[in-house]
Amino acid sequence: MPGFEVFGAEERKQVNDVLESGVLMRYGFDGMRNGHWKAKQFETTFAQRMQSAHCQLVSSGTSALTVALASAGVGAGDEVIMPTFTFVASFESIMMLGAVPVLVDIDDTLTLDPKAVENAITSKTKCIMPVHMCGSMADLKVLKQICDKHNLLLLEDACQAIGGTFEGKPLGSYGDLGCFSFDFVKTITCGEGGAVITNSEKYAVNADQYQDHGHDHVGSDRGAETHPHLGYNFRISELNAAVGIAQLDKLDSILATQKRNYTIIREVLETIEGVTFRRVPEGGEENYSFLNFFLPSEELATKAHKALSESGVEACFYWYTNNWHYINGWEHLRNLKSLAPLSSEIKNQIQDLNNTDFSKSDAWMSRTVSSLIKIGWTEAEVKKRAEAMKKAILSVL
Ligand SMILES: *Cc1c(COP(=O)(O)O)cnc(C)c1O
Repeated sequence: MPGFEVFGAEERKQVNDVLESGVLMRYGFDGMRNGHWKAKQFETTFAQRMQSAHCQLVSSGTSALTVALASAGVGAGDEVIMPTFTFVASFESIMMLGAVPVLVDIDDTLTLDPKAVENAITSKTKCIMPVHMCGSMADLKVLKQICDKHNLLLLEDACQAIGGTFEGKPLGSYGDLGCFSFDFVKTITCGEGGAVITNSEKYAVNADQYQDHGHDHVGSDRGAETHPHLGYNFRISELNAAVGIAQLDKLDSILATQKRNYTIIREVLETIEGVTFRRVPEGGEENYSFLNFFLPSEELATKAHKALSESGVEACFYWYTNNWHYINGWEHLRNLKSLAPLSSEIKNQIQDLNNTDFSKSDAWMSRTVSSLIKIGWTEAEVKKRAEAMKKAILSVL
């Protein structure tokens, strides 16, 4: 997955354009910037690549989620449905706005279970936030039907699945809003950065203003701009955006390499009786950033994960207990440990997460092992890795 593996002369050239003028900010200073508008250029190119009308770059994937929610009017007391398997940014971005995260089970797609989503809808629900974890997507068709039926927003977190598609559409472009991260370990990186895409003119204008203190961005005198509503500072810098331009140029070749590496490993693991694979919803194509597979039981998954690391196979993850991508690892959320008092809406409405039954999620997560797919591996290295993985897994079955 990581775009940093292909960081090179192209990125340095883009950054140098910015360093030569010294205009590190994305707005203003027209006369000094030698015609370089890196953030704007990235936005135009990215919107096209993602087949969306609008793109708003921001400072991170987490701020992209916050800006997306805010631009669609999600705020205090509104409920946002999100999965138990995700990155902490999901609930952070929701709670930042005083909105209430509602955690629901995942299924064998390792993303939102549509049945669990429907059961969690209340009169306060405003948004469904599927997270396309580890390179593959939620069942967007069914989720969209649920959103249409209940008049809810569909916000896709595509931070880990850039370049994947559903029904021919780039992930992130299927819902009302889509979010991406360009942090240092993502498929393409800006160092730090994120993006919101949407086809809604209204959300795009709101996002543009909200991420820059509510500035209306009309005219050429920043100090004299009006402020239609309150905002915040989630701006990206020109330096980060410049790196992103070079990385975006490499996206398609990164995806092709990921697919090759993924396929080599998958074909070898498919020959192991007892290993099955995460379900990709019909109409979807992964971005191949991870290969996710199931062992027959929790015990065998734990053993297989241990055998893999002991035999020197790097970058295999057992999210169920080893990392903070699953609710098991979120002691701070479950016990609402905050530096300062939380809003009364959150305190009153949030689930008792220590006593909510997530056994359906546990059943899938406890059996899941994920292998990161690197782009720096040669074909010979991937073949060697695939055989080493097979040997390690067979040793416990
Ligand atoms: C990385 C990530 C984010 C947050 O991105 P940052 O740029 O690190 O803030 C959000 N959601 C998912 C699924 C991620 O993997």
